[in-house]
Amino acid sequence: MPRIFLPPYQCKDKTISIVGEKARYLRSVLRCEIGDNISIFEGEGNCLRTVIMKTDKKEIVVEVLEKFGCDVESHFHIVLVQSLLKGEKMDWVIQKTTELGVNEVMPAISERSQLRSTKKIERWRKIAEEASRQSGRTVIPSIHEPINLNEMMGNQFLLQGFIFHEEGGIRLSDAIEVIKQTYNPSNPPFSNPPLPPFSKGGREGLLVVIGPEGGFTKEEVNFARQKGLIVTSLGRRILRAETAAIAAVILTQFLLGDLG
Ligand code: SAH
Repeated sequence: MPRIFLPPYQCKDKTISIVGEKARYLRSVLRCEIGDNISIFEGEGNCLRTVIMKTDKKEIVVEVLEKFGCDVESHFHIVLVQSLLKGEKMDWVIQKTTELGVNEVMPAISERSQLRSTKKIERWRKIAEEASRQSGRTVIPSIHEPINLNEMMGNQFLLQGFIFHEEGGIRLSDAIEVIKQTYNPSNPPFSNPPLPPFSKGGREGLLVVIGPEGGFTKEEVNFARQKGLIVTSLGRRILRAETAAIAAVILTQFLLGDLG
């Protein structure tokens, strides 16, 4: 069944009008016609099964047949803090980690980041939406404006999660055991104020922090450790940052029992 995302405020009524890019996609790419069923994701864990009642050049009108919760989302709210990467590497990281189920991506500027700003946030949000739709997710990850890593860490009382460092740290499986014993989603780990720029639920986030092409400095790693992050290794081989991001997310989910 074709799937599209619509924001919750557009999904309140029994009939829903779909216009613009999404209507064009349904009409021209998927060749949907009157009588076809369409799934609409509200982006907050709810799905609507609908049927097309009318289609013309301007809009597609659907009637809601059924509304139900569809839970493919992880119980762990993973926030990928990824130092900005050059070229198309961030596109790739956002697409793949969205498929895997991260809830937030926070592009970060760290000491060795070669990029200090970006104009690609909107593009990354589109990539996240498309990857969510494709992988049948019901929540689109929030892609935040870039933050300064040291500032973000400095603003927090205590952080929860991992900083990945190729020059040592404890094994991820050991780090996960520590988190399993201490992770408490109903007990927000962050100080107040100031709140981090995390979206809804972000205060219970489990951070997965990955460096830029040139890696983290020792000072950054020490500061992260002071702030509560567990310094963690992905093994003896040095991975490219984008490979490390994917491996870190997959392994974290696997070790938390969230895959398979
Ligand atoms: N400084 C290195 C490469 C950094 S790799 C060099 O140029 O030699 C980029 C990022 O990927 C790192 O900051 C780290 O977050 C992650 N990473 C790569 N390999 C890793 C490993 N074996 N263990 C943990 N993190 C790793």
